[in-house]
Amino acid sequence: MATYTPMIQQYLQIKAQYQDAFLFFRLGDFYEMFFEDAVKAAQELEITLTSRDGGTEERIPMCGVPYHSAQGYIEQLIAKGYKVAICEQVEDPKAAKGVVRREVVQLITPGTVMEGRGLEEKENNYLATITEFEDGTYGFAYTDLSTGENRITMLSSFEEVLNEIYSIGTREIVVSSQFSEEASQKIKERYDVTISYEEETTVAEAFQAVIRSLEQDKLKITFARLLNYLVKTQKRSLDHLQAVQVYQVNQYMKIDLYSKRNLELTETIRSKGRKGSLLWLLDETITAMGGRLLKQWIDRPLLDRKKIERRLNMVETFMRHYFERQELRDLLREVYDLERLAGRVAYGNVNARDLIQLKKSLQQIPAIQAVIKRLENEEAQALAEKIDPCTELVDLLEKSIQDNPPLSVKEGDIIKDGYNKTLDEYRDASRNGKSWIAQLESKERELTGIKSLKIGYNRVFGYYIEVTKANLHLLPEGRYERKQTLANAERFITQELKEKEALILEAEEKSVELEYQLFVEIREQVKQFIPRLQKLAKIISQLDVLQCFATVSEERHYVKPHFSENRELFIKDGRHPVVEKVLSSQTYVPNDCYMNEEREMLLITGPNMSGKSTYMRQIALTAIMAQIGCFVPADEAVLPIFDQVFTRIGAADDLVSGQSTFMVEMLEARNAIVHATQNSLILFDEIGRGTSTYDGMALAQAIIEYIHNNIGAKTLFSTHYHELTVLEQSLNKLKNVHVSAIEENGKVVFLHKIKEGPADKSYGIHVAELAELPRELITRAQEILADLEQNGEKPKQPIVHEETQQFEQLSMFVEETSKEQEKEKLFSKKEKETIKLIQSLDLLD
Ligand code: ADP
Repeated sequence: MATYTPMIQQYLQIKAQYQDAFLFFRLGDFYEMFFEDAVKAAQELEITLTSRDGGTEERIPMCGVPYHSAQGYIEQLIAKGYKVAICEQVEDPKAAKGVVRREVVQLITPGTVMEGRGLEEKENNYLATITEFEDGTYGFAYTDLSTGENRITMLSSFEEVLNEIYSIGTREIVVSSQFSEEASQKIKERYDVTISYEEETTVAEAFQAVIRSLEQDKLKITFARLLNYLVKTQKRSLDHLQAVQVYQVNQYMKIDLYSKRNLELTETIRSKGRKGSLLWLLDETITAMGGRLLKQWIDRPLLDRKKIERRLNMVETFMRHYFERQELRDLLREVYDLERLAGRVAYGNVNARDLIQLKKSLQQIPAIQAVIKRLENEEAQALAEKIDPCTELVDLLEKSIQDNPPLSVKEGDIIKDGYNKTLDEYRDASRNGKSWIAQLESKERELTGIKSLKIGYNRVFGYYIEVTKANLHLLPEGRYERKQTLANAERFITQELKEKEALILEAEEKSVELEYQLFVEIREQVKQFIPRLQKLAKIISQLDVLQCFATVSEERHYVKPHFSENRELFIKDGRHPVVEKVLSSQTYVPNDCYMNEEREMLLITGPNMSGKSTYMRQIALTAIMAQIGCFVPADEAVLPIFDQVFTRIGAADDLVSGQSTFMVEMLEARNAIVHATQNSLILFDEIGRGTSTYDGMALAQAIIEYIHNNIGAKTLFSTHYHELTVLEQSLNKLKNVHVSAIEENGKVVFLHKIKEGPADKSYGIHVAELAELPRELITRAQEILADLEQNGEKPKQPIVHEETQQFEQLSMFVEETSKEQEKEKLFSKKEKETIKLIQSLDLLD
């Protein structure tokens, strides 16, 4: 090391502390990278790799980016999951003896981005932390540095940890170096996250207020890790961190990550984008804060009926008050991201334009308050009362900051006249100076008799007197000192002009300096308002989401859901919200659903592509929408409050985690079977399809029986195993429904309509026909079918051949009952009422 130049030695010393980051080493107008960093960065950023002499024989690889355009490069590296340590010169190079002192001033990581492309307006950017405890529990906490929001919980299994990671969508997780390698691996397999390490678990005095609500040691340790990581990476004030909020996962409807994905709540399975998801459909929020809150609400549907109804009532109120809603929407358009503005104030990277945005936003608040007061709803009144327009802050900004300030905070032109006496004096001096110059000009003209004499200014020479060559002979000797010669004029200065110039320029310089100082003071004053701004931001974002629900509900003709106490579910003319939107409502076929204590399970049969899984999804989405407080896509809806939703739907191949489709299917099934309660909703689409027929059918039946006998959750089970429909006879809470289809001109037409009873005919042949199998083959199949139909009235039993018999021996199918018995059972006294209800709905053929 001794042979390296002193600067490279300094580099290596600093780099040693930031092994896992790119070290951006400030050298004049560039950030330079050396050694492996340079090689890697040149590749990742597609910039030229050069080299420099470092005192040793071999030259050192080097690459660099200009200081003024560094942001874009930093963002590129962060987007790829890297970290970037910004190392600045911390003393004036002119004053330095030897190598200029340099220090890392900030470590930028994927979870701590404060600005630029890494921050989506309507997305939170969470940094999470996990602490494993010996008893098998996990402390899980997360923070959004840009908004200051902090949450923490205890989780009882690693599965729950994975669920939480999915729902917050974090990009970086901080753990101890003791954290299990296996667990890290599992997380990295599934999610695109950076794992970072932090050992320190005591909390600095400065953060006692943030952790006040934490009593348990486990929570404290967990959160401390996160805080210490923030302190070490950010190296600056974090005054905007809000008091950490403790939550429990069972406060909310539990939706495991498979189900969230399957139901496409916030992103679609295929594109992983928002478009086509429930979030996309519902997002009529105006503000960025509202957009983020909407996503949080969708991720965490409520269980508390009172809270849900409070939201629903607000939505209803907003629907009734059309004009107030429009007015609110217009006002919200002028409200900037108060949460992130507050974050930047604390962070110290806000400029004067941000403060003007803040002022403009706050100026909307009294009008918003007035609109909310006009709503006839107690909840709205209470909310309006809580709105704090932060008047003192508006006053401060109004009298201090100019309306169109420049981006830079160091070049003046920020502070209004009249705000500060000294500044006014400096400004007077420079303005008076200018009028004095004008006076001097006319004086000089008189003195010399040169009418065209003028006084001008340029950056190099300052003020000068300009005289055309033709008039030079009129100038008296001695008084004028020549400065510059132009083609047809000469420029001069005088002693008097020099003195005045010094005064003017000094005043200007001083006023720019003072403006910056005043700006920093104002920023400090704004800091005092951060908690109030954060409270205000919460209310505004709630109002935004509630108006958003009202807007969507009105546009799409949703209804207010009601909740049943007896686990009854009744949906009249329900729709799948997203499919309906995509198809347009003319073509979407609405469907009813009725379930109660005697109809816990529906076995759905029907040909492929008839709409089975759409039907199941729409029930789940309806329940979720209701529990986030939104109206639902139906003409009428009464729902139980579901504690959990489980799904196994479609081909959500979990290729990433390297598991086979069938294994995933079974894992998802297991998840439901282990965790579901009587109050849960289970959707199983074609369970068992992923393995051989008999294997699959046996599993499907066993799963149905298990849920029926041991759990009693509301279950929708679709299958193309027609054989399973006989289960209705042995399982008294299971009912058959089917998706109807008709034949038209020998072709099958899907009506997408759900009807009572099993599908009574296989449409397989027609589907084969649609797929253009050879004519000869189709004709033969039709013959065989006709044959079979003649032999039995219906092919209720599987076609008899050896394998089937074997299956039947294995199965626990009950003896075939006669049609009369079936009917008798169907209409048994207890179910009479249900039947009536169903008749009133559109469920019977
Ligand atoms: P299955 O699960 O029976 O194979 P899907 O639920 O995937 O069928 O539906 C197949 C297609 O039918 C969907 O992509 C959708 O476009 C259409 N579809 C489903 N349900 C309806 C409906 N109720 N009204 C109109 N079109 C529907």
